[in-house]
Amino acid sequence: MRMRAVLMGPPGAGKGTQAQVLAQGAQVPQIATGDILRRAREEGTSLGRRAQSFMDRGELVPDDVMIGIIEERLGQEDAQGGFLLDGFPRTVPQAEALDRLLAQIGMPLGAVLLLEVPEDDIVRRLSGRRTCPSCGRSYHVENDPPPADGRCGSCGAELVTRTDDRPETIRARLEVYRRSTEPLKAYYAQQGILRAVDGLGKVEEVTARLRAALRD
Ligand code: AMP
Repeated sequence: MRMRAVLMGPPGAGKGTQAQVLAQGAQVPQIATGDILRRAREEGTSLGRRAQSFMDRGELVPDDVMIGIIEERLGQEDAQGGFLLDGFPRTVPQAEALDRLLAQIGMPLGAVLLLEVPEDDIVRRLSGRRTCPSCGRSYHVENDPPPADGRCGSCGAELVTRTDDRPETIRARLEVYRRSTEPLKAYYAQQGILRAVDGLGKVEEVTARLRAALRD
């Protein structure tokens, strides 16, 4: 059976990096709502303009906007055989909307993977992060240094520090995570599909743990 899963965890837990590897291995699309919003912002669409101020402050984009985005994305051809959601849902109303949507098309979620990383490590990870605006790959100035020319090793685009990776915004994002997203743990634990995974260690080690959790 194809993967129909959610990867959740605090900002900086490594969701993007891990989702990319897992989705590729399982041959399903990685659906990263943060990437969708950043693309819309770069393209200057009305969605991008609406999302920008929330993103810059480290706040959540309103649920109705996000649910609309995910409904449209899950309706696309490549998502029919499975998907890995990265960064969605982030609130209980989003999770409820997702359940309704998936029930309508008869494709309930198989697993929700929770990447756990202590708060001190998160702040260190996010403040050293450099991101490729083109392909989404991320680096870390100490743990996974980017090429010396400051360009992405995968696609050659110039790397940037995300505007929401500034220290004051990081704190706001962590607070939003605690308040709005953490309640999802209880929501999915109750459904019996939550699998917590230690997010510390090398990328490959964490990937192996996530794969093992998916097989359980
Ligand atoms: P991310 O790349 O997943 O860290 O997302 C970056 C930003 O996009 C977040 O801080 C939010 O402002 C916004 N965002 C992404 N996904 C969601 C979501 N599911 N609900 C609300 N806002 C979101």
